[in-house]
Amino acid sequence: MKTSLTQWSIEDAENIYQVKRWGNGYFDIGENGDIHVIPRYDQPNLKINLKEVVKEMQSEGIQFPAVIRFHDILRSQVELLNKTFRNTIEEANYEGQYFGVFPVKVNQMREVIEEIVEAGSRYNYGLEAGSKPELIAALAYNTNKNSLTILNGYKDEEYLRLALLGLKIDRNIIIVIEKFSELIKLVELAKTLDIKPIIGLRVKMMVKGRGKWEHSSGERAKFGLSIAEILNAVAYLEDAGLSDCVKLLHFHIGSQLTDIRAIKEAVQEASLVYSKLIKLGVPLEYVDVGGGLAIDYDGSQSTNDSSCNYNLAEYVSDIVYGFKQNCDLESVPHPHLVSESGRAMTAHHSCVITNIIGEIHPSGTQYSTGKATGEHIIVTNIRDLEKGLIEAEKNNSHQEIYNDVTQLKSQAMQAFKLGILSLDELAKVETLYWRILNTIEQQMHLHEFIPEELNDISEMLSSQYLANFSVFQSAADSWAIDQILPVVPISRLNEKPTKLCSLVDITCDSDGKIDKFIGQDSVANNIPMHTLKEEEDYFIGIFLTGAYQDVMGDMHNLFGRLNEVHIVSYDDDPKDFYIEEVVNGSSVDNVLSTMQYTPAIMAQMIKKEIDAQIARGKIKPREGVNLIDFYEACLNGYTYLKQ
Ligand SMILES: *Cc1c(COP(=O)(O)O)cnc(C)c1O
Repeated sequence: MKTSLTQWSIEDAENIYQVKRWGNGYFDIGENGDIHVIPRYDQPNLKINLKEVVKEMQSEGIQFPAVIRFHDILRSQVELLNKTFRNTIEEANYEGQYFGVFPVKVNQMREVIEEIVEAGSRYNYGLEAGSKPELIAALAYNTNKNSLTILNGYKDEEYLRLALLGLKIDRNIIIVIEKFSELIKLVELAKTLDIKPIIGLRVKMMVKGRGKWEHSSGERAKFGLSIAEILNAVAYLEDAGLSDCVKLLHFHIGSQLTDIRAIKEAVQEASLVYSKLIKLGVPLEYVDVGGGLAIDYDGSQSTNDSSCNYNLAEYVSDIVYGFKQNCDLESVPHPHLVSESGRAMTAHHSCVITNIIGEIHPSGTQYSTGKATGEHIIVTNIRDLEKGLIEAEKNNSHQEIYNDVTQLKSQAMQAFKLGILSLDELAKVETLYWRILNTIEQQMHLHEFIPEELNDISEMLSSQYLANFSVFQSAADSWAIDQILPVVPISRLNEKPTKLCSLVDITCDSDGKIDKFIGQDSVANNIPMHTLKEEEDYFIGIFLTGAYQDVMGDMHNLFGRLNEVHIVSYDDDPKDFYIEEVVNGSSVDNVLSTMQYTPAIMAQMIKKEIDAQIARGKIKPREGVNLIDFYEACLNGYTYLKQ
């Protein structure tokens, strides 16, 4: 991170935070140094200043941390996916159509599902469910009779009965068989209820996805039928007189497929399986290519786990042209194409905004280092080293001073353990040590060449910014699988960030931190941030949290769900947006109730004890009433820290 001290431009900020590269056109840094959101892909002039959204939320008394959801980004993504498939199909003279479905597990929020279904209605875009509760939601919300409802996941009898209920109300429900025993149950039920199901078969693919989820395919995959099982299933259905019910071939080789080659190979394999089954007389009409369309979280356009080496157009093109070519070679009809992209539909549409509430810094403490009579020689030596720094520039002796101070510090620790150095002396050594490192770092900034060891000083001096949020609630994958999520201050980007920082959250868990960031070449452990000001809040955004992160959060430390605002863009508004809806996050009594507490009884318990203290004369009655009120107000309040 070597930039001149005096000059700082928006391009420099862009270099550090890579907003354009992960932003997919939806985010950029304005000339004023604020993050702008451009929520409609087809209206580049519609710009929302994120800082203005935060201001409006503050004026409405909405506490942070909070999720900001941009409904127009959701709509844009749904439109882009469908249009890209439609245009490519037309351009390729492909004879099938595209019927996309959104996998509910990626973001189950009602408002998200409603928006997606609405935006997708003119493309007959449907839903995919992977569990009974998701199916129940999909039944209620996927009301478009021309779209598909695809059912994946393991199924019990109740699940299958629900699916058949859907058929009775004219939904295009396709039950995807993940496991042979499901087929036996389904055939039984279909006979009893006298309904013809629409059946999909999920094939266990040989090709492996690449990236974190590569175990979703291959022989040891959890889901799907082997080729032998598929042939057995076809025979079984024929015996049952239901062979005309098999309409769809399904595969899913993993999420976040980082390498386009895995997709090409999967299309090749699946189109052959499809063609051969058609030739055997299986009346397949659809091929479902599953999910996996990746998001470039770190903006590197690489096969890093948090990135991908392709874009939407390439992905769609490989699928459409791949099926066309292989089907033409095999002389079989082109199937309708189904895909189940979840991550790509939702990741960009929401972010978590929170404020930095403090700084934890190794050299942050002031302690008087004045000379005491009879002090230990180590203390005197280290103080003299500090004086030597004045000459260091002239003598080019930074490295030497660094070596000496490192040695003196370790000697001091030894001396303290042997009882030779006092606590006061140790505190002085610590203070002088960090001060010297600080000065070396500042002086080295002006140098062209920095010796390798001295480069580590920046890392040693880096701060931890304490952010008002819980990683376990809001960025679960950052903790669980080292997923990189872009972290960017939402303003002051026209100002040089002079502090290297990592983020720590407010949980009492040392894992509660983010220390993997977008780096210059690869992943970095720190990210430059601005110095905090007394009189001004410092807000940061954790971006691309709309897929999985939004809904995977847990109750660690009982923080619970965040306050949420839904933003709709509006050209006629001076700020180009309005807050359409506020969804309150968890209150303390909410989260306690889910853990079987009864808040009203708890308040009574506290009241009883306060009353007892009043009776003993230890608390004045008026103060007692205030204390009870305070306890109750906290019970009703937000779980996160108040500014
Ligand atoms: C999780 C899942 C998806 C969604 O995958 P993304 O990578 O988020 O697009 C699609 N289909 C199935 C069967 C899944 O399990």
